[in-house]
Amino acid sequence: MIASIYTLSSGSSGNCTYIRCGDTEFLIDAGISRREIAKKLSALGTSLQAIRAIFVTHEHSDHIKGIPMVAKYDKIPIFAHKLTLSFLKEVDPSLQHPIKHPDTITLGDVSVTAFATPHDSLASCGYVITYQGKRFGYATDLGRPTDTAVDALVGCQAVILEANYDKDMLRYGSYPPFLKERIRGNYGHLDNEVAAKFAAFLAKTGTERVLLAHLSDENNTPETAYRTVSEYLQKEKLSLSLAVAARHEISELVTLEC
Ligand SMILES: [Zn+2]
Ligand SMILES: [Zn+2]
Repeated sequence: MIASIYTLSSGSSGNCTYIRCGDTEFLIDAGISRREIAKKLSALGTSLQAIRAIFVTHEHSDHIKGIPMVAKYDKIPIFAHKLTLSFLKEVDPSLQHPIKHPDTITLGDVSVTAFATPHDSLASCGYVITYQGKRFGYATDLGRPTDTAVDALVGCQAVILEANYDKDMLRYGSYPPFLKERIRGNYGHLDNEVAAKFAAFLAKTGTERVLLAHLSDENNTPETAYRTVSEYLQKEKLSLSLAVAARHEISELVTLEC
């Protein structure tokens, strides 16, 4: 059976990830319009009708923007923390499935486990997908790599990992001081250097592929994120297949036979 994972959109303007494990298809987050999701799914040879669930990380609009319309027209069950669901009041209650962090949901022969992440939202999580003995991780919007996040991602074959900002670009950039503090705080976002160390740790523990994601429009560039992480991996003599998720285009994390 084939497992494939693609980001459809990644970054502060909207996040949405498509996962297919055998016959089971689902999304993590829907922070872009329903129309955009439908267009991208069609480019991947599938459609919203095939999507069995949407797992939501947290309530920030770049993660939930498209959910009300998708729930309304496509009747897709939404799995999220009850505090996250409180931001999705327009979603029909019969489609709302509250989950805890941690919690494991089974969809066919796939398990999806939520793990708590430190972020300035009411509740925030990443996800680990387990299919045919293989594990895949999703971790964006976290202020620091907590033990919980590290433990969850250890042993994942492939990981979507946040590399939100370059420290100097943020320091000398145009954001107001309070926002800079928020981003680099313990409940903000991961910078490229921390992502590099995290990726190195994952490489040492068996991860083969990392897709850097949720890059800031203002305080990062794909080249800077890629360079910072790949140079660190080289310095540590670690090999890993590394790529950067495009902001508005489809990017592949992995496609493999399970
Ligand atoms: Zn967020
Ligand atoms: Zn975000």
